[in-house]
Amino acid sequence: MQIGVIADDFTGATDIAGFLVANGLATTQMIGVPDADARVAGEAVVISLKSRSNPADEAVADSLAALTWLRARGCKQIFQKYCSTFDSTAHGNIGPVADALLDALDSDLTVVCPSLPVNGRTVYNGYLFVNGVLLEDSGMRDHPITPMRDSSLVRLMEGQSRGACGVVPVETVEQGVDAVRAAIAAARGAGKRYVVLDAITDAHIDVLGQAVRDMALVTGGSGLAAGIARALCAPAQAGTSDAAAAGQPLAGRGVVLAGSCSQMTRQQVAAYRKIAPALAVDPARCVAEAEAYGAELAEWVLAQPAGADMPAPLVYATADPDAVRKVHDRFGAAASEAVETSFATIAARLADAGITRFVVAGGETSGSVVKALGLSGFAIGPQIAPGVPWVRAINKPYSLALKSGNFGAEDFFLDCQPLEVRAAFKEPQEAHS
Ligand code: ADP
Repeated sequence: MQIGVIADDFTGATDIAGFLVANGLATTQMIGVPDADARVAGEAVVISLKSRSNPADEAVADSLAALTWLRARGCKQIFQKYCSTFDSTAHGNIGPVADALLDALDSDLTVVCPSLPVNGRTVYNGYLFVNGVLLEDSGMRDHPITPMRDSSLVRLMEGQSRGACGVVPVETVEQGVDAVRAAIAAARGAGKRYVVLDAITDAHIDVLGQAVRDMALVTGGSGLAAGIARALCAPAQAGTSDAAAAGQPLAGRGVVLAGSCSQMTRQQVAAYRKIAPALAVDPARCVAEAEAYGAELAEWVLAQPAGADMPAPLVYATADPDAVRKVHDRFGAAASEAVETSFATIAARLADAGITRFVVAGGETSGSVVKALGLSGFAIGPQIAPGVPWVRAINKPYSLALKSGNFGAEDFFLDCQPLEVRAAFKEPQEAHS
């Protein structure tokens, strides 16, 4: 096993797994720390935890349990994965987990690299940007759980960890692999425990991937993982790798379940409603009778016309911020949970009725659906959009596309449909993409 990843949330785990596969490493994703005797295939394994915003001591304990499991599989490198927007509070959990992993691995230094240029996340002089705007001025400023009010990765890391933090600036990255390795060695010599790696382009990411491919522990987002995967896969293999084979989507009936209210999901729902049968979820009914209502919604899905050339029906709770606020004013936070319960019920019912392809929008919603279906892990398949691969359950006959709110382009739900449907509904020049 080349790489063992410890990811701090569920869709973040799917995101990095997708990038590893797309860059040549066959990858399995496990939900939570697996049993000691669980067997996995592939060259990389990603363990998804829920450790982004729980108390730091719990996040550390879960991460160390994951580390123990990964080391028992002989992983050559451990990758601590967090969001490319460095989602964390003043106290963690990125820093405390990194500290604990360094200690457990008997290492004295690791790198910090959330850069993901393909999704607009870049690092310059140790500052994190989102689509060209400082992190603290991006939408992350007002995130409900992890509001990011500082963009300096050095300050963020030093604030929540036990070590001093340096930077490898982009000028050094442009000088190539040896220069980056020398800069990391110099930081170590200067007593740094962490080094932020600048990267603005994928070319920078490639240099960094090669520079850190042999480190015992690295930390970062999916961009660095892609760079490391490219460094590990021999160039001769590029383009011929069958890394995604085990995760190719199954044939069969599908459904689209949208529980995210993020801006991109709202656009995706609006676009897909034009071509597929669609039903809006009433949150009030979820609160009143989450499971009975979920069963009713599942019956509606099953009553829709099915066939290889039919777009899968859409059930959506997706609403604009005003509507969501009204629901929360009326029912409190319990409303969101009730909506998730209804989606979980729909998914379980549909699985029993023979639906094999589940497209789910929303990080929490995806977590609820995966739990309801009783899935323990996935083989990762081809990417549908950056950060969103098809995944195939390893213990049940289901394929899933699990998308966190803002991922994917407007046509994402159509992109998840069988080729015949895409060919019928996409603009002619896009039909084969
Ligand atoms: P995202 O990835 O966009 O954050 P999540 O699924 O993680 O999406 O979170 C969305 C949350 O909002 C879920 O708990 C979901 O049940 C809830 N929700 C969805 N639609 C509504 C709605 N119309 N009113 C209130 N809550 C909703």
